[in-house]
Amino acid sequence: MSGILELDSLTQRINQMNMERKLVVITGASSGFGREMAKLFAEAGHPLLLLARRLEKMEALELPHTVCRKVDVTDRVGFEAAVLEAEAEFGPTDLLVNNAGVMMLGDIASQNPQEWKLMMDVNVLGVLNGMQIVMPGMKERKTGTIINVASIAGLQPFANHGAYCASKYGVVGLSQVARAELAAHNVRVLHICPGAVETELLGHTTDSNIIKGYNEWKESVGATNITALDVARTIQFAYELPQSVSLREIVIADTQQDA
Ligand code: NDP
Repeated sequence: MSGILELDSLTQRINQMNMERKLVVITGASSGFGREMAKLFAEAGHPLLLLARRLEKMEALELPHTVCRKVDVTDRVGFEAAVLEAEAEFGPTDLLVNNAGVMMLGDIASQNPQEWKLMMDVNVLGVLNGMQIVMPGMKERKTGTIINVASIAGLQPFANHGAYCASKYGVVGLSQVARAELAAHNVRVLHICPGAVETELLGHTTDSNIIKGYNEWKESVGATNITALDVARTIQFAYELPQSVSLREIVIADTQQDA
């Protein structure tokens, strides 16, 4: 009998701890970095809102205190509705990770302009949508964190990365502006620039020669050992620092990546 009571009070304490953890919103949570982040933040007891188009992949994670919604980040109305729904259940968003992205590599001289547009819409406008949805509440509460996933391709050029580089340079730029706008409100804006990491990302590229070339490049520069979990852990570390400490810009790559 006393064993059952102790178990009950332990469960109560765990539930209370979970309620004290604040809402984390992750876009692009159906694979890669986003999926690893979802698992880590759930383990740490955060309620979660997971967003992507492949709902079944997020639901298959079966994470506790989690709302999964099929949302395209370019659909501002749907994005905002999902955030409002999760906030009604779990309280205000304390962390938004704008992680959703597409990479369609291509030669500027021949790439289909529709692919440029898609990258700009998802990688740049999707991030702006997310920021605008959570910023007013964070400013009012004078706390909160936004982490935008850019890329080393947002800091330096790579062949066949024309529009992708443009989109990720854009993410770096808009993160820097948002940081300046939000500093006085005690809201952190960070961006993280990963090097090459094995995920589903290359699957968006349509040109098979470029895919082959990219894989050969990855081998040749040594970018083969770092994992999506390593990136997710780094994002979690940056978030868990005190609100008064901002890592601003994180560049992370495989130790053996020499480019
Ligand atoms: P994945 O392809 O594994 O994950 C991308 C995620 O974005 C998926 O969950 C996908 O879900 C989601 N997504 C794509 N388009 C949309 C959309 N329109 N609306 C909502 N969600 C969308 O790749 P990564 O995990 O590698 O990529 C995550 C981020 O990291 C991206 O921004 C990428 O550019 C960046 N990055 C990745 C690097 C790498 O080498 N892996 C290096 C540097 C940066 P779904 O298809 O279900 O919608």
